[in-house]
Amino acid sequence: MSHNPVRPWRNIDRRKSRRIMVGSVPVGDGAPISVQTMTNTDTSDVAATVAQIQRSADAGADIVRVSTPDESSTRALREIVRESPVPIVADIHFHYRRAIEAAEAGAACLRINPGNIGSADRVREVIRAAKDHGCSIRIGVNAGSLERHLLEKYGEPCPEAMVESGLDHIRLLEDNDFHEYKISVKASDVFLAAAAYQGIAEATDAPIHLGITEAGGLTSGTIKSAIGLGNLLWMGIGDTLRVSLSADPVEEVKAGFEILKALGLRHRGVNIISCPSCARQGFDVIKTVEILEERLEHVKTPMSLSIIGCVVNGPGEALMTDVGFTGGGAGNGMVYLAGKQSHRMSNAQMIDHIVEQVEKKAAEIEARSAAETQAAE
Ligand code: SF4
Repeated sequence: MSHNPVRPWRNIDRRKSRRIMVGSVPVGDGAPISVQTMTNTDTSDVAATVAQIQRSADAGADIVRVSTPDESSTRALREIVRESPVPIVADIHFHYRRAIEAAEAGAACLRINPGNIGSADRVREVIRAAKDHGCSIRIGVNAGSLERHLLEKYGEPCPEAMVESGLDHIRLLEDNDFHEYKISVKASDVFLAAAAYQGIAEATDAPIHLGITEAGGLTSGTIKSAIGLGNLLWMGIGDTLRVSLSADPVEEVKAGFEILKALGLRHRGVNIISCPSCARQGFDVIKTVEILEERLEHVKTPMSLSIIGCVVNGPGEALMTDVGFTGGGAGNGMVYLAGKQSHRMSNAQMIDHIVEQVEKKAAEIEARSAAETQAAE
């Protein structure tokens, strides 16, 4: 991340890690932190699975994981991979044969939980298949499925046990001359996950996949993930992430981006800054923001928009945003462009007008960045 000399309190020093590729997506070594989600369709239903992947990709998912519990799903995977706009990670539990079939079907990455994949020999076979088919591997350590000998040694799932499990499996991959791997040490408990991630971050230079597993429903899971992942990302730990929610995968993607946006680690689309509203509001802030979020969903260009109910905070927030609207007049408000007061607009026409202004600004930003790219070539 570039350093901000003016506001050094915004800087995050990202942990140095090796780079691997998940298909076309780089992970690690300063690459943008990729956002993942996982389908919850029946994988053998190709049309439904591809439709969900497409919706997730439209929402910004860089990588999508698909569960492959049986042969019919690894058979379907071939077509899913062919039709998917983003690299596919095959999620494997228990059956090492599914991992081999998934590699053959074109998965970009195999997520294996070494604790339940079986013997070292079986893991070796999976590694061979990954090498043969150019897949990377995610070692997915999970507090809920640690190997028995580690539970006996440590008494319960704890950060040390999770790190040891991760390092044991890293060794297995390395001993087989396999280096295209990343690692996750997930737990549903925020403290346990955060401590395990810090431990593994110190013990290896492998890229790290962040996640709080089984985080919960949309609101509680997002908050839990924001606390757990947010803290780790703030420390500079994490190269890719998934927010696990009992909700639509698209919501996971949105939550992932919001966490990254809040930390200035990645930007996509319109970052709306809005006040909670109160009796001073000059227009219905909550309703307006709800409508704008929907109407601006198609804008992918990173930019900011402030929607503030009155002059208490409106001008100050508008100073730092690309487009701003502050209520306060009799049935109208002030539009700000690039931090400066521009013109007044009636509340009745304000939504269409803001959408127009945001689209115009997005087109300007895109044109400028295309010109800069061309000049650099
Ligand atoms: S900015 Fe104005 S309307 Fe919004 S919460 Fe503050 S005082 Fe209320």
